[in-house]
Amino acid sequence: MAAADEFDVCIVGAGLWGSAAAKYCSARLGNSVCLIGPSEPTTKQDYDSRFVFGAHYDEGRAVGAISSTFEWGELARRSAGNFSNIEQETGIHFYSNVGSMWLTAQESSLSQKLLDVANQTGIHATVLDQEKLHQSYNFLSTESIPLQKNTEIVGIIEKSGAGYLSPRKLVRAQQMLAHRQGCKIVDDIVNRLSCHDSQHSFDLITEGGKIIHAKKVLLCAGASLALEDFLPGGLQLDLALKTQLVVLMEIAQKDRDRLLDMPSLHVHEGEKDLGLDCYILPPIQYPDGQWYLKIGHGKVGEEEVTSKEQLKAWYCGCGDASTSDRLTQRLQDLFPGLNPISLHTVTCVTACTPTGHLYCDMVAPGLGVLVGGNGYGAKSSDEIGHMGANMILKGEWDYDMPKDKFAVQLKSPEFTISPLKPQQK
Ligand SMILES: Cc1cc2nc3c(=O)[nH]c(=O)nc-3n(C[C@H](O)[C@H](O)[C@H](O)COP(=O)(O)OP(=O)(O)OC[C@H]3O[C@@H](n4cnc5c(N)ncnc54)[C@H](O)[C@@H]3O)c2cc1C
Repeated sequence: MAAADEFDVCIVGAGLWGSAAAKYCSARLGNSVCLIGPSEPTTKQDYDSRFVFGAHYDEGRAVGAISSTFEWGELARRSAGNFSNIEQETGIHFYSNVGSMWLTAQESSLSQKLLDVANQTGIHATVLDQEKLHQSYNFLSTESIPLQKNTEIVGIIEKSGAGYLSPRKLVRAQQMLAHRQGCKIVDDIVNRLSCHDSQHSFDLITEGGKIIHAKKVLLCAGASLALEDFLPGGLQLDLALKTQLVVLMEIAQKDRDRLLDMPSLHVHEGEKDLGLDCYILPPIQYPDGQWYLKIGHGKVGEEEVTSKEQLKAWYCGCGDASTSDRLTQRLQDLFPGLNPISLHTVTCVTACTPTGHLYCDMVAPGLGVLVGGNGYGAKSSDEIGHMGANMILKGEWDYDMPKDKFAVQLKSPEFTISPLKPQQK
């Protein structure tokens, strides 16, 4: 094995959160920061040969601060406020500020929550009734959204600071900035993390045979944190991995022209998701040069993944046909007259916490975790990286939101976080 490289901070997981955290850490510590994680698998052989995957292998993630909780909304608002700076500094265009719209029943508890969050975060929300909705977006049909008696569909619109981003390009931009500040980026997988009790430091041993020695470690390894035993004392985070299936519908220029003014859409059918909840992104050009409409589902269609084998099988497969058929039908119902050229599916998982908030917490001296996007972690990623970087640099909570909201929960209730004896090598 090679001699160990030494760093003040090592960040494990080079996805959206780890890359953002590496940028914020290296802005303060320069070349004593290391970001380690494998790059995106691109071939079938890459997929077949690993058990570690990320939630950023795509070109579209919805952006918008109008969310169901204040914390997600505020983190998204702060992040989106930084996007144009990141684009200017890197020359990488990853963000399209086309607006975002929720379609939901006027009287639903969700519509009230969304308006409350808009109010609390200072975001201007415009509410369109059914008639105005049809005047403004004549390509959209809301007839397939079932409603309770005496309610009507409304559109709650966030016109600026919202739209969609390319997670692939945002990862690239954040890493470019981190690298410029001296951060070492290592394309490898961490297989083992051990703690030197006496020296208050960590050894990370990689699949490629490297040893990295760090005074502090921030774990940003997404889904893997539910499946690997990186935490000391056998602790396991309470983190559920949920399968996500996305349909990409390739469309022609004629349909693109029709959908020119389309914002990112979230469709919410009412108090219960009976299978029609979905989100849809405006036409996006993918690396093959073609344009696709992207649709994803709500809770119906999610299955829990509990092992590395299941994770690999899900990422390497095409998802289930009933969900992809349902999503394709949703697109046809919401945008009558579409003429798809081809249909594709993309599989991914989300890491979900029982609190609904992300975990940003120290689990042992010098060891922090930053995980649990709950399906909202791309739009908020820059600010989440900031929050995680502040915490690991200080060794304790250091952000202007209540610490308790982001505290980890563990699988077995008999475990408590403090005091902890770090694991022996
Ligand atoms: C289909 C889908 C649609 C989504 N849509 C939206 C949306 O519209 N808007 C939104 O805001 N969010 C959305 N999300 C959620 C968002 O993509 C995630 O919350 C976000 O990617 C989480 O970032 P992360 O850095 O925590 O995890 P990831 O992006 O998964 O990154 C984790 C990284 O850790 C690496 N890693 C894992 N194990 C190891 C190891 N042992 N050693 C080193 N590295 C390791 C992985 O390779 C990966 O690169 C969506 C997610 C999915 C799956």
